[in-house]
Amino acid sequence: MKLEEVPEPVSTYIRVKCKDCGAETLIYSHATTEIKCKICGSLLAKPTGGKVKILAEIIQTQNKDDS
Ligand SMILES: [Zn+2]
Repeated sequence: MKLEEVPEPVSTYIRVKCKDCGAETLIYSHATTEIKCKICGSLLAKPTGGKVKILAEIIQTQNKDDS
């Protein structure tokens, strides 16, 4: 007997690039607070209750499960 599992990436980190100053920031995919650029304070991502909504340019996504 098999239960169907939904393959859903749980923890992911998303590397984004600020549209305003070009600084790179690593964002947790399920962050619960607004993520702002360290350099210029521009809003990079905001929480939605699930996966964050990315407002900056996505450079790369990486799974945490990388051991
Ligand atoms: Zn910036």
